[in-house]
Amino acid sequence: MATETETFAFQAEINQLLSLIINTFYSNKEIFLRELISNSSDALDKIRFESLTDKSKLDAQPELFIHIVPDKASNTLSIIDSGIGMTKSDLVNNLGTIARSGTKEFMEALAAGADVSMIGQFGVGFYSAYLVAERVVVTTKHNDDEQYVWESQAGGSFTVTRDTSGEQLGRGTKITLFLKDDQLEYLEERRLKDLVKKHSEFISYPISLWTEKTTEKEISDDEDEEEKKDTEEGKVEDVDEEKEEKEKKKKKIKEVSHEWSLINKQKPIWMRKPEEITKEEYAAFYKSLTNDWEEHLAVKHFSVEGQLEFKAVLFVPKRAPFDLFDTRKKQNNIKLYVRRVFIMDNCEELIPEWLSFVKEVC
Ligand code: ADP
Repeated sequence: MATETETFAFQAEINQLLSLIINTFYSNKEIFLRELISNSSDALDKIRFESLTDKSKLDAQPELFIHIVPDKASNTLSIIDSGIGMTKSDLVNNLGTIARSGTKEFMEALAAGADVSMIGQFGVGFYSAYLVAERVVVTTKHNDDEQYVWESQAGGSFTVTRDTSGEQLGRGTKITLFLKDDQLEYLEERRLKDLVKKHSEFISYPISLWTEKTTEKEISDDEDEEEKKDTEEGKVEDVDEEKEEKEKKKKKIKEVSHEWSLINKQKPIWMRKPEEITKEEYAAFYKSLTNDWEEHLAVKHFSVEGQLEFKAVLFVPKRAPFDLFDTRKKQNNIKLYVRRVFIMDNCEELIPEWLSFVKEVC
C-alpha cells in the first residue's frame, strides 16, 4: 500500500507566529530545548496517568524516558520521548491547524517587548523549535494509531505521512531538528548538558544524552606480535625481554564508543528539608514548574502528617496569568505526585477556583 503524503496549510495566526520566530532576532534561542523537554514530560505524564487504570497502555514501550541525540554527521538534534505520542489527527490539529488562544496573545506580548522565553506560558512552545532549526521532523506513535511523520520548513505548510519504513518508536515522539548553520552549538555535549541542568533539572523523568566517548585502548594484536617475533628471530641473543614487553604496551589505538549519560539527578525539591533549600533553588524550581521567566513572589513549603501525609510547595507568582479570567479554560496549577511520581494535575478539590493562580506541587 502506497503511503500518501498530505499537505496542510498552517492556520493564519500560527503562520504569523512562525514568521516572527524565524525572522526576528532573538538572542535567547536556547529556550527551545526547555520547551521541547517540557512537552516530552507532559506527554510522559499523560501516558503514565492512563497506565494507572490500564497497565497494558505501557506494553509497546514499558520505560518512560527522554533521550537527546545530537548527530554531527547530519547536523540534527533529536529529542525522543516514550510519552503518549500523537495520533494523525492530534498531529494535524496540535501542530498547525488549530491555533491556541495564546498564539495571538504571545505575538502581542512580543510586540510589546516581551522576551521570546515566555513562549511556553502561552501554550505554543513547540514552535520555538524554529528558533534554531530550518526544518523540523516529528515522528510519533500513539497507542491508538499508526506511526506518522510530520514535517515542515515553515513557509506556510506542513506535511503528514504514514511512516512505514522508518525506525519504529513503539510509543512516543521523536522531534528532529535540522539545525541552522549558525546554531550548531546545540550539537555540543557540554552545551546540551549545561542547558538541561539549567532549565530542565527538575523534570521527573530520566533525561539521557547520547554521548560520544573516545577511549585509548592498548592493543594486543596477535598478528603484530607474530610479525615482531619473526623479524626478531636470529637477532643478537640477549634481548631484554622486559623492555620488549614495555614497548609492546605502548601501542594504543583510539576507540570511539557511544553511551547514554543521565543528566538530571536531582531529588525532587518538595521531598527535601526546607532549611536545606536555598532561595535560588526554589526560584529555579518555580521557573521550571511554571515556565515563568520571573522569580516567584512568595513560597510556602510544608508537610502535613496524620491520616493523610504529604509534603507540598506552594508558589505565588509575581503577576496574574494572561488567561486568569478565561473561564472556558480549566486552570491546571496543582501537580499531585505520589511517591515522587506524577499522578495528576487537575486536583480541583485541593484548591478553590479563586486561588487558581497559586502554583503548587505536592
Ligand atoms: P503546549 O505544550 O503548551 O500545549 P505546544 O505548542 O508546545 O503547546 O504543543 C502543542 C501540543 O502538541 C501539545 O499540547 C501536545 O498535545 C502536542 N505535543 C507537543 N509535543 C509533544 C510530544 N513530545 N508528545 C506528545 N504530544 C506533543
